[in-house]
Amino acid sequence: MTNATPLSPAQKTWQDHLILNDFYGELSSTPRRTPMRELISTVLSHRTTHADEELAYSRMLETFGDWEGVLAAPTSELAHAIRTTRWPDTQAPRIQDILRRIKAERGEFTLDFLADWPTERGLQWLTDMPGIGLKTASLVLLFNFQKPVLPVDTHVHRIAQRVGMIGPKVSAERAHKLLLEQLPQDARVLLNFHKHNYWHGQRVCLYTKPDCARCPLKAFCDYYIEHYGPATPEALAATPKRWDTAWGELPH
Ligand code: SF4
Repeated sequence: MTNATPLSPAQKTWQDHLILNDFYGELSSTPRRTPMRELISTVLSHRTTHADEELAYSRMLETFGDWEGVLAAPTSELAHAIRTTRWPDTQAPRIQDILRRIKAERGEFTLDFLADWPTERGLQWLTDMPGIGLKTASLVLLFNFQKPVLPVDTHVHRIAQRVGMIGPKVSAERAHKLLLEQLPQDARVLLNFHKHNYWHGQRVCLYTKPDCARCPLKAFCDYYIEHYGPATPEALAATPKRWDTAWGELPH
């Protein structure tokens, strides 16, 4: 690709997917956690580092044994167990509300029934729960049940705007639908698109100071062109083709 080729937003989205797949390597769609763990860990992860989220999760289950124990625990003790998260006093009652609803509706602590539900019904059911937004619901359905949905977190949203896959004023909520329409309804593609852009936002396209010199998206990125002009052949030639582990570990 050359910087002389104007791309439509949908073409940029597809190129982003192909290029970052090469840059970071394609991932399999094997679930990384059980559905219950994915759901509760995502609640714990809000504005919290992965290490602190993991610590909160393990302390919670070590202290109370299982989901039944977490539900029955005094809320203040649960908040203490998950104190490494950003807002333990908000998250503790929220987790108990979620567990209470799952138990009341399903008779046990499981989300496995979502595998057989149509995607829209699953999204609706999850987002009806307290504190569960479209991003968290999409993560659970994509990662655990290979449903064709696209979680858009702050990193995916920022890169989509900077590159020009979506307009500069499109909200993250709306971006879920717009980006999904530009990609194949294939869970593996969607999972890779989500994870790669999430990593890219954490390691290259940083919020305060994007590392454009290292970025393989510069040929068609609106932000790059606006700040530096069209990418020169020299800049493109100097851009790495793969993430180098010497630059640091990739996030979870
Ligand atoms: S070229 Fe710069 S602004 Fe554009 S996606 Fe890459 S790092 Fe972000």
